[in-house]
Amino acid sequence: MSNSDSKPIYVTQPHLPPLEEVIPYLEQIWANHQLTNGGPFHVRLEQALCDYLGVEHISLFANGTLALVTALQALRITGEVITTPYSFVATAHSLLWNGIKPVFVDIDPQTLNLDPDKIEAAITPQTTAILPVHVYGCPCDTKRIQKIADTYGLKVIYDAAHAFGVEDEGGSILRHGDLSILSFHATKVFTTFEGGAIISPDEKTKKRIDHLKNFGFADEVTVVAPGINGKMNEFQAAVGLAQLKHIKHALEARKEIHERYRKSLSEFNGVSIQIQPISARNNYSYFPLFVTAENQSSRDEVYGILKKNGIHARRYFFPLISNFPMYRGLPSSKQNNLPIATKAAEQILCLPIFPNLTHNDQERIINLILKT
Ligand SMILES: *Cc1c(COP(=O)(O)O)cnc(C)c1O
Repeated sequence: MSNSDSKPIYVTQPHLPPLEEVIPYLEQIWANHQLTNGGPFHVRLEQALCDYLGVEHISLFANGTLALVTALQALRITGEVITTPYSFVATAHSLLWNGIKPVFVDIDPQTLNLDPDKIEAAITPQTTAILPVHVYGCPCDTKRIQKIADTYGLKVIYDAAHAFGVEDEGGSILRHGDLSILSFHATKVFTTFEGGAIISPDEKTKKRIDHLKNFGFADEVTVVAPGINGKMNEFQAAVGLAQLKHIKHALEARKEIHERYRKSLSEFNGVSIQIQPISARNNYSYFPLFVTAENQSSRDEVYGILKKNGIHARRYFFPLISNFPMYRGLPSSKQNNLPIATKAAEQILCLPIFPNLTHNDQERIINLILKT
């Protein structure tokens, strides 16, 4: 039975700029007829994001998955790549689309990110790169991962789809590794409906990526690689520019909701609150709850009760990527290779968190959890 007097609440709801702020951008697109291929809004959004994120080189994409696939192409990654099973399925799919074999390594129980202690044992002569994910925006142990990469001559590509605006003590976490990837999908903290980006360390790498995302065109008559069509269009870029003006407010609102959950749920012995360490600047993109106590409700019971009441929390990330049919035959997918990730997939529930979540709705969610 669903709660008929209230609308369903999903785990996230896009925080769109007021429509009247978007219209002037659209009028410009209609007036100048430039719809895609690096138009004026595309140029402006790249610069605005560099400024906001504190990075120097960014290439915009039609979505985050194309950015991942292209990043692997740009660095000519082949053979085997070490990655995490505890992520959205696109992380590993980007490897298969490049004919690369994923090698799953277990996660750290605190950060839920790739466990640096377990990486070295998974390296073989075929290993060429590491593809970690900053899960829920919590930074990976970038220092230790880089040290391993340097020792073994591996590249590092970060899937930073959850980590828009996240910083560690040294600044943007997007500066780490050889490349980082962002997603601007509708469910993410910053959205262009669909969209994504690659952050490069230098102009030369950005240029190669810009060629690859435009069929390999270096100029009108020169094609330098079998590139793909990964370009972000002017409509997406305009939405991004309009939205960026509201990002500060959106992150503040998320922080408040995060803190209210933390305070209200910390007393409940059936549930232990997010234990991921908070980075220097978090983006509060997700609120993962560990439902752990043995004599209390299981995660799926809590999930079911919320759902019955019109609250659609998500079991990110269940099932693990390694359990999907195209991966489960891999030796590294065996459950005894991934005990921590297996447990996390059974215990974590991501609660609704988005700037427009009302006080009342959040109270309702908290009370339902406390009553289970
Ligand atoms: C959202 C997401 C992606 C894919 O991004 P799209 O823009 O939806 O293609 C990749 N990796 C992770 C971890 C994600 O959460």
